[in-house]
Amino acid sequence: MADRKLIDECVHCGFCLPACPTYQSWGQEMDSPRGRIYLMKAQGEGRVPLSNTLVQHFDRCLGCLACVSACPSGVQYDVLIEQTRAEVDRQHQRPLGERLFRALLFALLPYPARLRVLGLLHWLYVALGVRGLLHRTGLIQRLPERLRQLEALAPPLSWGQLRTRLPSLSAARGAVRRRVALLPGCVQRVYFPGVNQATLRVLAAEGCEVVVPEGLGCCGALSLHAGREAEAQRLARAAIARLEREQVSAIVVNAAGCGSAMKHWSRLVADDPEWRARAQRLEAKVKDVSELLAELEPMAPRKPLQLRVAYHDACHLSHGQKVRAQPRTLLKSIPGLELVELPDGDQCCGSAGVYNLLQPRSAQLIGKRKADNVRSVAPDLLVSANPGCTLQIQSQLGAAGGSIRTAHPIEVLDASIRGSQL
Ligand code: SF4
Ligand code: SF4
Repeated sequence: MADRKLIDECVHCGFCLPACPTYQSWGQEMDSPRGRIYLMKAQGEGRVPLSNTLVQHFDRCLGCLACVSACPSGVQYDVLIEQTRAEVDRQHQRPLGERLFRALLFALLPYPARLRVLGLLHWLYVALGVRGLLHRTGLIQRLPERLRQLEALAPPLSWGQLRTRLPSLSAARGAVRRRVALLPGCVQRVYFPGVNQATLRVLAAEGCEVVVPEGLGCCGALSLHAGREAEAQRLARAAIARLEREQVSAIVVNAAGCGSAMKHWSRLVADDPEWRARAQRLEAKVKDVSELLAELEPMAPRKPLQLRVAYHDACHLSHGQKVRAQPRTLLKSIPGLELVELPDGDQCCGSAGVYNLLQPRSAQLIGKRKADNVRSVAPDLLVSANPGCTLQIQSQLGAAGGSIRTAHPIEVLDASIRGSQL
């Protein structure tokens, strides 16, 4: 049940409403932050049951945290929605189809080895022409909506990407300025191995020795954001135990959702004082890669990139970690690069962990607004620091037949340092 004290901090002013993507979509109070807090209170007091309708209003929340940034009273909606989702997961039985789909997603996504098998099947699906056939004949439209969304979001993988493995230790170029660990992520590791490779190269060029701890698995972020508290705790404890063995000054993360969850690990395992203390020691070291690079005086020369770049603020980086300036500063340090801001840039793209798979219609509505805003500034490249956002925006831009490419900020910096093209 959501914390009553935190609920009572909401003074119902409504300043958060315009910031909320689902309120923007439907204009319904119960799909706004204020409305959801009201529902949490009513449910906690036993005035409304935890029905399908009530759960739907909570499920429609992206967990984007735009309302946290917008709230002048400092209401901790991030904590409230986490608590509520965990309560829903424990107390509410979803329809069978939904339970099976969620079980499938969470049997795959937090496990890179299983994701790799899925990636291989997807590679065969494309390579053997099954994908082309389904699309040419229109049979794809007969698949259930969620499977269609999964198919639309999964990017084609090359054989080389599937075989990519990161070295467990990467040497710094020149004198060692920092020794750090890199979290390779789950989706990032399998679907965007180039982002991890670019991260290692940039960190090496800036004087960092990087450890990629063998056996390090999921940080628990996806499960946490979906209300699967026990699973998130189990994954977080395993990651903490593994990272504790490394003598490093920072734990570098290049996926916004992971970084945001890891910086609050102690909240996730707060019911156990020993684990809370261990989590606190580690979370103090967690840094988005742009935060770490912003702390270091740039050492590697940047070569020009003649690109018009739009930067998308991933919600769990901007609202969740308040990291807004650092990625922009990194991009602006590249000669020739023109950085443009997106209209309504504070708005979520509709990815939000697995939201675009669980709430495909809402995600498409929100994603279309984002894609329209991206197209309105006509960039060569759309840059985002979260794999989920990149997949969602790629898919939305692709659906309209656009040709705007996407990249992670670290890939842009890497191309500039190496003098290569993106
Ligand atoms: S987290 Fe995002 S979607 Fe949810 S209530 Fe807040 S602003 Fe709206
Ligand atoms: S969450 Fe904050 S901004 Fe929204 S109604 Fe409550 S006090 Fe106002």
